[in-house]
Amino acid sequence: MTVLANGRIHTLGPGDPVVDALVVREGRIAFAGRRGDVNVAASEPVFDLAGKTVLPGLVDAHAHLLYLAQARLRLDVGRARSEGEAAGIVAAAAARASAGEWLGGRGWDQNLWPGRQFPSRDSLDRAAPRNPVALVRVDGHATWCNGAALHAAGIDRDTVDPTGGIVVKDARGEPTGLLVDTAQRLVQRVEPPPPVERFDRAVREAIAECLAVGLTGIHEMGATLFALGAYRRLVERGQFPFRNYAAVAGRSEETWDYYKDRGPEVIGDGQVTVGAFKLLSDGALGSRGAALHSPYCDDPENRGLLLIPEEELGRLTGEALDRGFQVCIHAIGDRANTLTLDTLERALAARPAARARRHRVEHAQILAGSDIPRFRALGVLPSMQPTHCTSDMDWAVERLGPERLAGAYAWRSLLDTGVIIAGGSDFPVENPNPFHGIYAAVARRPLTGEDRGWQPEQRMTREEAVRAFTAWNAVASNQEADQGRLLPGYRADLIVCAEDVFTCPEERIRDIAPVMTMVGGVVVHRRGEIEP
Ligand SMILES: [Zn+2]
Repeated sequence: MTVLANGRIHTLGPGDPVVDALVVREGRIAFAGRRGDVNVAASEPVFDLAGKTVLPGLVDAHAHLLYLAQARLRLDVGRARSEGEAAGIVAAAAARASAGEWLGGRGWDQNLWPGRQFPSRDSLDRAAPRNPVALVRVDGHATWCNGAALHAAGIDRDTVDPTGGIVVKDARGEPTGLLVDTAQRLVQRVEPPPPVERFDRAVREAIAECLAVGLTGIHEMGATLFALGAYRRLVERGQFPFRNYAAVAGRSEETWDYYKDRGPEVIGDGQVTVGAFKLLSDGALGSRGAALHSPYCDDPENRGLLLIPEEELGRLTGEALDRGFQVCIHAIGDRANTLTLDTLERALAARPAARARRHRVEHAQILAGSDIPRFRALGVLPSMQPTHCTSDMDWAVERLGPERLAGAYAWRSLLDTGVIIAGGSDFPVENPNPFHGIYAAVARRPLTGEDRGWQPEQRMTREEAVRAFTAWNAVASNQEADQGRLLPGYRADLIVCAEDVFTCPEERIRDIAPVMTMVGGVVVHRRGEIEP
């Protein structure tokens, strides 16, 4: 038994009680109430919180632990401020690599570069003539390759675009090196996976990174058999002090073939729950792959990409519902959102009992006005990333124009219909820090704090934003009887912070970091100053 006393403990229970003492026994909360009502034997550890704040552990409802781990093994080109700088990072790595070794990387964003032009293979061919290079865009929706990687993947001027993807070609018909959305799979198929021991270590480091910023869990939107194999090994070795509610990657046929037969499963004592099935209906806004009803304002021939034919989306959704999975469908553009809501509506009409599992639209980023009330009507939850809004605000208007912005990142419009929003970051697309997300949700300003007047009427309250990363996320993973609040019987997943997110000055929210993180009653992260 462990006691935490003399804190401001936000239970998020009915009526929002704030208590000053918690008792933890066998990984769960045994008592939440007044310090005076707890009898403590002298031998029991008591954490004196000295007025610090306790929150339920924060959970990121849309994250990619697999990619965060993978990023630790790959080149980080996210700091590059031009195509030339990114190529320079590759050239330095190529100088250390042996001939033929793959150089994978992640993080480039042409929207941060002068001219905002997409990069091409030429700069990478000069940087790494002897190594295949494949660099994934920050949003995961495009890969920039050199000639050696294109060659290894068998891509040339005769390659036909796959459904939902583009092999970008120049005026002469030659591939430029840019592969958008499903075309990335051509190169992913041939790029060798990292060695298992290195990947396992990278997963542990990625988890430690999450615990340090206050996350006790995530919902992984698209876990593959390779990643789940690592998680299973780590759980068995007692090296997975975290909760991952995983959605099976529907794009990975071997993964879905496996789970289609097996059904949902729990690994360990709730560390990993494979409970959902993830599909992508469209691309992303940054690479103009988000499927829109009307063309892009800055690309008048283009309405974006549907990654999967409508019948196939319906068939796979039905299959996952029939196997007992929650269905989570990525939809960014307004056309993809309409299609996704139509698909869920039809699939659930045919299976009314499956509705209780609360299916989700991931991102729900740009919505037609008529689609906003449909979430509530269908019992479908929007899963949204507040930091996407604040990262995209500089260029989203160029893509969408002012009218469509009314339905973009429309948190308040959705909340007003009576739905809850699952909050996430989509890391490593954005920083994993959930306080950045809470800040973005309540301030609707970039981390720098400057007010660009970006639809302040769509902001969340602090109460809503904290719930979007705790209690509401527990609802969104059908785990609300077990997680997301600090009440007797709930899992003892919590964080202790020096500042109170509910009362501190707004600009301080983004800087909050836990002094202690507990998962299942075990202290898994501590930063000085707090001792039992
Ligand atoms: Zn994602």
